[in-house]
Amino acid sequence: MHLILMGLPGAGKGTQAEKINEKYHIPHISTGDMFRLAIKEGTPLGKKAKQYLDEGALVPDEVTNGIVEERLSKTDCEKGFLLDGFPRTIPQAEALRDITTKLNKKLDYVIHVDVPEEKLLERLTGRRVCPVCGATYHVVYNPPEQEGICDKDGAELIQREDDTIETVQKRLAVNMEQTKPLLDYYEKQGILVTVNGDQDINKVFEDIQAEMNK
Ligand SMILES: [Zn+2]
Repeated sequence: MHLILMGLPGAGKGTQAEKINEKYHIPHISTGDMFRLAIKEGTPLGKKAKQYLDEGALVPDEVTNGIVEERLSKTDCEKGFLLDGFPRTIPQAEALRDITTKLNKKLDYVIHVDVPEEKLLERLTGRRVCPVCGATYHVVYNPPEQEGICDKDGAELIQREDDTIETVQKRLAVNMEQTKPLLDYYEKQGILVTVNGDQDINKVFEDIQAEMNK
């Protein structure tokens, strides 16, 4: 089972990745994890990636693609993999196609967890944090007993800059623009599976499995 997981921030990709990992016993490979591993192992590509990351620069595709190839060549990927956060662009998708061909693997499905933008805004802007103890709440999904007050120490909860509506809207817009061409690309190949992510997490997973068994 060779899969890619796609979805906007707040769509609940992480939860579904865990469930897919449990059920199919394939490694969940996120871009961040791949970089961390290559850097830890000190591979030539890992060393290169570290230079860019240390400078706060974008890691160029030739380095990223090489790290992906190294990772997908590992023995734990023999039965498959679940890629998360890669590819981000069409050139990366084309590189992935070359990598899988070279490794004699075939991409089976691209799973797109789809959640309407207004729902994502609700999920992402509802977070509140306690400035004293660091506890996190959500105004809808995990509210404190008393509105705006930390249950543990009575401090007044705050909204982080990252969670304000303007910041979240911008982040979503950038992500949507980036994702759209990839969804089209995989749709044309007939391997895109879109599931409704605006429902109970177990139901989302059931839908993913149902789509893959079709
Ligand atoms: Zn607190």
